[in-house]
Amino acid sequence: MLKEALENVEKKIEISCKKGDRSREDVTLIAVSKTKPISVLQEAYDLGIRIFGENKVQELTDKYEALPKDIEWHMIGHLQRNKVKYIVDKVAMIHSVDSFRLAETIEKEAEKKNCVVNVLLEVNVAGEESKFGLAPDEVLPLIKKIASFSHIKVCGLMTIAPNVENPEENRPYFAKLRKLSVDIMHENIDNTNVSILSMGMTNDYMIAIEEGATMVRVGTGIFGVRDYSI
Ligand SMILES: *Cc1c(COP(=O)(O)O)cnc(C)c1O
Repeated sequence: MLKEALENVEKKIEISCKKGDRSREDVTLIAVSKTKPISVLQEAYDLGIRIFGENKVQELTDKYEALPKDIEWHMIGHLQRNKVKYIVDKVAMIHSVDSFRLAETIEKEAEKKNCVVNVLLEVNVAGEESKFGLAPDEVLPLIKKIASFSHIKVCGLMTIAPNVENPEENRPYFAKLRKLSVDIMHENIDNTNVSILSMGMTNDYMIAIEEGATMVRVGTGIFGVRDYSI
């Protein structure tokens, strides 16, 4: 049941906050609702959830139109430049900026819509071939290049850790993303604050919180397994 699942996740977040000496208010839960029907999102909404994560533009905009307007939508999936225009004025945050060209497109489309888009830079901390994201040493140069953009606000970093059996294996990657954000903060770049760390999914969000996550993206742990066949 959704209610029990949410309570369970909340409990685990609280335990991890204690363990990591973190304050509960410093960790935001993003309910990753991709593939789930609008009725299920409405049910989560009725239980108090206001922050949803989606990874496809069409699905996000459909759900945006159908559901209450006080929802914060987070784009967490790979974003194609030709689709940026559909979401810039609808999302609270884009977690997956991984190139200058994409940032440039977001800047241009946000200017047209007269809005400022909050973004995170996606970092492939583990260097996995199969994943999108910047190499850690590409992050600071990209931040410097987009610092002058007035319709993008860089707010932090995001990573998708490897799919592992034992979540402890991902601890070093979470620690590394945190260290990278600290190093970047020391540079004091204009228009740039990288205090948000979006890291941790169902399998490893407890470890991620211990290592400093400020946003966790939990799908399966809240909504159950996804059915991609429908
Ligand atoms: C699907 C997805 C999640 C949630 O994954 P779960 O393992 O179901 O919690 C988190 N982040 C991203 C980027 C995703 O695509």
